[in-house]
Amino acid sequence: MRRTGDLKLMQELNRSIILDTIRKHGPISRSDIAKLINISPTTVTSAVNELINEGVVREDGIGISNGGRKPVLLRFDPNTRYVIGVSISNSYIKISEMNLEGSIIRKEIHSTNYQQGEEIISLTLQIIEQFLQSKENLEGCEGVSIITPGIVDAGKGIVSYNTKLKLYDVPLKEMVEQQFGLPTYLDNDTNAFVLAENYFGSFGQYKDLVYITIGDGVGSGIMVNGKIIRGYKGSSGELGHTTIVKGGLKCECGNEGCLENYVNWPAIYSKIVTALMSRGKETIIKDQVGEDLNRITPAVFVRALNEGDSLCFQIMDEIVSHLSSGIINTIHLLNPEVIILSGEIVQENDLFVNLLKNYVSKQVIPILREEVNIQPTSLGADFEMLGAAAVILQEKYQFTI
Ligand SMILES: [Zn+2]
Repeated sequence: MRRTGDLKLMQELNRSIILDTIRKHGPISRSDIAKLINISPTTVTSAVNELINEGVVREDGIGISNGGRKPVLLRFDPNTRYVIGVSISNSYIKISEMNLEGSIIRKEIHSTNYQQGEEIISLTLQIIEQFLQSKENLEGCEGVSIITPGIVDAGKGIVSYNTKLKLYDVPLKEMVEQQFGLPTYLDNDTNAFVLAENYFGSFGQYKDLVYITIGDGVGSGIMVNGKIIRGYKGSSGELGHTTIVKGGLKCECGNEGCLENYVNWPAIYSKIVTALMSRGKETIIKDQVGEDLNRITPAVFVRALNEGDSLCFQIMDEIVSHLSSGIINTIHLLNPEVIILSGEIVQENDLFVNLLKNYVSKQVIPILREEVNIQPTSLGADFEMLGAAAVILQEKYQFTI
């Protein structure tokens, strides 16, 4: 029995390698695949037959003969099958249908009205159900890939711990699989983003990356030698809960002085509001939003910075100073090739990135000073969906960069 199991596993592995080779090197002949990856021509032929039957590979043109018959060329077809990507956050759920290259075919954004716990889970299931209703059948669907903040056990498909969404030990993968009968994949969102930067973004040549998101809190995804680092319980990358001020601000994790209490949008917002309320603090934000404090958004903050607003610069300086402590610790622990920043307060904000580089360069051990490489994300507006696509393409097809 064991031998049969091993054989099946071997066949599946070969199939993944063959598909990946066609994807990267197509149009390519069967014999060139065999030569390129050193697998027997018989194995290539039978795997290719299966892949053609499934529709992910098609014959496309005739190659040059090496003496015998002219070979038929093969090409990867990303459009016959599709994946469903779902991203859950505090304020919205995004869902999309994508081809096997992560191109979006259809997308919907639903507000969550800040629901939490069981409510957000049933809302997620309801949104998936409605989204799938437009399909006659689910034959071409390769599966559902869900990404969410917080600690996720990707192997078991469980959302282990998310204080903002009030999710604790929720077996979301099993729930989705039971309801829809589709293979389901679950991962932490920042893990998905670092994978997507590597798959679809400008950072494909790097193997050691750290991806940091700054929003209501701070999260990070870590890739070392091309692999996501998850840790024993899946909680690696909780950069937001590393201590940077001993006895500092109380954090909702129970600790004090965690990084994300100092680096987050609500903190910036309240500093701006406090300054607006107190006389003598001049800022162009006053002209931009008038009396309506709700109009102060990260984009307004970034615009004011770019126009040279000194109050906003002072606030940014405090934030960046705190963030640099977390980044120094990260660099000294992991020695990444690149640190990628994302979040609304970083977008279109070269000042932020440059100031951060400055702070980090001053504090990093001298031998690493020249190597400090901090850059904004390259993923664009659909980063959540690209993250979900990267997870399923890696898990199911084992596509490599
Ligand atoms: Zn904390």
